[in-house]
Formats: sequence, C-alpha cells, structure tokens
Amino acid sequence: MAKVKRQQVVSAEALPFKAEHYREWRRRQIIRMAITYIAPLVILIVYFQYRYVGLEDDSRRIHLGAIAEHQANTLDLFLTERRVNLANLIDHPRFSIPPSSEEMADYLSDLGRVSAAFVDLGFFDSSGVQVAYSGPHPSLELQDYREEDWYLTLRNAEVNSVITDVYLGFRQQLHFTIAVSRLVENQFLVLRATLDPGRMYEYIESQQAAGDVITCLVNAGGVYQLVDEHAGRPLDDCPIPISSEKHFGNGMIKIDDASRLYAFQWLRNADWSLIVQSVKNTGGFLGNMRLSSLIVSAGLLLLAVVVIVNRAGKLVAQQKETDQTRAQLEHAAKLASVGELASGIAHEINNPLAVITEGCGLLMDYTDPQFGHTLEEKELRERLDTIQSSAFRCRDITRKLLRFVRKTDFDLREHDVHDIVDGITDDLLGPEIEVSNVKLERNYDRTLPKLTTDANQLQQVILNVINNATDAIGDASGTIRISTSRRGNEILISIRDTGCGMTTEQLEKVFMPFFTTKEVGKGTGLGLSVSYGIMNGLGGEIEVESTRDVGTTFILALPIKLKR
Ligand code: ADP
Ligand code: MG
Repeated sequence: MAKVKRQQVVSAEALPFKAEHYREWRRRQIIRMAITYIAPLVILIVYFQYRYVGLEDDSRRIHLGAIAEHQANTLDLFLTERRVNLANLIDHPRFSIPPSSEEMADYLSDLGRVSAAFVDLGFFDSSGVQVAYSGPHPSLELQDYREEDWYLTLRNAEVNSVITDVYLGFRQQLHFTIAVSRLVENQFLVLRATLDPGRMYEYIESQQAAGDVITCLVNAGGVYQLVDEHAGRPLDDCPIPISSEKHFGNGMIKIDDASRLYAFQWLRNADWSLIVQSVKNTGGFLGNMRLSSLIVSAGLLLLAVVVIVNRAGKLVAQQKETDQTRAQLEHAAKLASVGELASGIAHEINNPLAVITEGCGLLMDYTDPQFGHTLEEKELRERLDTIQSSAFRCRDITRKLLRFVRKTDFDLREHDVHDIVDGITDDLLGPEIEVSNVKLERNYDRTLPKLTTDANQLQQVILNVINNATDAIGDASGTIRISTSRRGNEILISIRDTGCGMTTEQLEKVFMPFFTTKEVGKGTGLGLSVSYGIMNGLGGEIEVESTRDVGTTFILALPIKLKR
C-alpha cells in the first residue's frame, strides 16, 4: 500500500514562510521540549544514581565494619588464650620457684603445641632479673629487665598481666611480650613469653573474608604492629588516622590518587586497633555507577531524544499545514475584499474607457474619406495623447489591484506607517473615494518611528476595515478619519467612521468567521476574522468600539519591532 507522507500534502509554494523559518522553529521546539522532558529526567537519573551509590557505599562500610569487628574479636580471643596459658602455668601447684632450665624447656614446648606464636619463655624474680629462660636467645638469661616499660607497668599498676606493643628489643627482632605477675609470699614474680607477630598475622589471615580486605594492626601511637607486606612495614607510621575516642568506626583514605574505604575496631586486650581496608578502590560517583544502570539511563535519554525529535518533526508538519490553510484563507479573503471593491473599480475603469472609445470614434470619423475631414497633425497628437493617458490610467488601476492581490511571502521590513496607509487610501481606493459621498480625513503623527512589519498583510487589514466603514456609511454622506499615534512600544492606526454603528450583539460577533449583516453576494463575513488572524501574526491586536447610529472605530495596534 502506498503511503503518502504528510509533508508531501503541503506544497512548498503555498507556505507563507521560507524553509529557513521552519528549521528555526523546529530547532526551538526541540530545545523547549528537551528542557521540559529531558532536564527532569536527567535530574531524576542523577538523583537516583547518587542515592544508589550512597547506599552501596554505606553497605560496604557496614560490611567492612563487620569484618573488622570479627577479626578484632578473634585476635582478642587469641590474646586472652595466650595470657591464660601463661597464668595457668604460673598458678600451677607444681610450678617451682624458680623453675629449672629443663622445666622451662618443657613449659615452652607445651606452649608451642598450643600456639606456634610463642617464641620463648622467661621467669623473673623480685629483682627483675630473668632467672630462668628457655628459647632461641639464651644470652638473654640473667638479663636485668627492671627498667623495661612493661616490667614497670606490671610493678606499678594494679594489673597482673600486660601485653606490650611490638618492638625490636635486645634481640633486634620483631616481637611482643605477654607477661603475668604474681605476688607469692611477698615475692613479686613474673612469667613472660614473647610472641612472633608474624605468626599472629598468619592466624588473622586464615580467617574468613580476609581475602576481600587488607588487615593491619596499629598501636595507640598510630604505628604499624602488624601489616600486609604490600601495604607497609611494622613499626612504620600508618597513614590512616584512627580516632582513639571511638571504639570502632570507618572512613575513606586517599592513597596514590585512589580512594579506599576502611573500618577499624580497637582490641580489648591490648592498646591496638585493627584496621581493615577494602581491596577494591572506590571510584567516586561515576566510578561507582553500575554499567547496567548507565546503559539503562543512556537508553532512556536516547529514547527521550528520539521521541522529541520525532514530535518536533510532527509539530512542524502540523504548523506547516495550519500556515498553509491560513494563507489560503487569507488569500481568499483578500480576493473577497477586492471583490467588494469591484463596483468602484468598474466605475474607475469605465471613465477612461469611455474617453478611449470616444477618442477612437472621433479618429475613425476623421480618417473616413466619406466625411471629407482633414485632421491637423497637432489635433491628432492631442487626441492620441488623451487616449494614451486614459489607457495608462486603466493600466495603473489594474496594476495596483494585481500588486495587492498577488500572493507574497511573509516579508518583514521597516516602513513608514503612513506610506502603508496611503498605499490603500490613495493608490487603491483614492479615485473611488474622491468621487464618492465619503470624506476621508487624515490625522497623522509624523513623528512616529519606523515600523517593522509585513506591509502587504497590514494593508489587507486596513482595506478590510475601510471597506466595512464605507459599507457602514452606505449611500448617506459620511466621514472616515484615519489617525496614527503611539502607545508605549506600539503604533496605533485608528479608523473611525460615521456609519451606522453596531448593536452590542453585533459587536460581540464581528470577529467571528462568516458573521455578516450584509446581503448575500455583498458580504462574506470573512474580512474581520481574517484581519484578526493577520494582526495576531503581526504581533498586534485589533480593537473595536461602536455606537449604534453614531459610528465605529477600529484601532489596529502593532508592535514597533516585530520579531519572528
Ligand atoms: P463582511 O464585511 O463581509 O460582512 P466582516 O467580517 O468584514 O464581514 O464584517 C462583519 C460584520 O461586522 C459586518 O457584516 C458588519 O455587520 C459588522 N461591521 C464591520 N465593520 C463595521 C463598521 N465599521 N460599522 C458597522 N458595522 C460593521
Ligand atoms: Mg468586510
């Protein structure tokens, strides 16, 4: 089935505007619709994405926090167990004071079976000297620990056990100490073990979910105790700021331009905070948007654009059709108003035609040998001149008519408003009015600025109004007074007649299409409705006042500068 495109129905010649005008109009429609439909869509998409990314960020923080809590608990449990191991040992009824080297070696191997983290074991008498030792550093035996921080802590504080930070110590190897103290028969006894933090780290790493995160342990001074070898080294400063006021928390840090989430949890057994960092970098707002939602959003936007472009195309086609219909109607009305002039014009043309016929008749007579006249050359010239000037007059009248009736494109130009009015009153109607019962008065404000408008269309309106005024005056004698003035940014053309005027009901209907009080064949009822449309198109208005039996005033108000 053949499909006829809408656009094809609209033939280009019938359109009052150039293709350029419609392109521009379409462009503006697209922009307007884009602002109306796409802008809210974009705002909505951005808002939901933002919320979504925020939620995802929250849930990741919560997840990290849970891992940190879990690992910290595990570590706490580990440390408690190690402390209890030592306490059980020193509290054992068969624990001899001081223990012998063999006993110490047995104890250490027992501990080693419980946890591989135990490195060595030492026993201190009241003087703070390590009197019994078992482990890989026998040189430490008989070493005096009186001034060591951990020893002083045990001595001075109320606590009877201590877990130290990780340090190098006499042996220049990373280790930390767990010590328990007992007061036995006024003797201050201490049993202590050193542990390998590396082994402890292996223990944490064996925990679930450890693969998703990097775990480290820092002390109260922000110094690494335990750390993944890729993230840092023990005893270095940790770049993550950890609040010591909160028991746990989370945050985001920037390392080498990448943002990472972290969560921390302080241990109960030692002054250590366990920090877990997410392995994945946080990519910021855009980076966190899911590809799928990006694709859906882009699809939505694309759909909106396609709909808008399509809709704009349809609107333009519709507008073209409307413009075409309007142009046709206006042209029909123009022809009608010229038709209304016809009787006057016939009269106009009749006079010179009579002169021409008479002149020709005379010339024929003179040249007919039957009459025997001779015509002097001067007289012949005079006769021919009269005939010619009469013919010229006829030509002028038809020319003006044709010029007025001819279809023209919408054509904005600067004009003196008086030239436009005179174009109708003098050129088109002049001779007719001269011989009629209507007196034409002018009251022009010559200081008015130039008017940017379409002269031909405005003339059509003026002609319609003047035609109506002449009709209203009818056979009686009357006056049509045309005045121009300024009102703000408008120029007013006021056309007042002393005709029959209108009743209120008539006044209400004047702009309705096909409303006419004139007899069939004389009025079409289109003049004013078309004039109304034209004035609208010119950015102006048409106002009317009328009193029955007194007269009517039409005021055409036009913007000084019409922009399209
Ligand atoms: P038409 O002139 O073909 O009747 P118009 O639209 O020009 O159609 O005018 C509609 C009607 O408005 C006229 O028939 C007439 O009744 C009334 N009218 C218009 N202008 C005047 C006027 N100046 N004085 C009195 N009546 C008028
Ligand atoms: Mg009319």
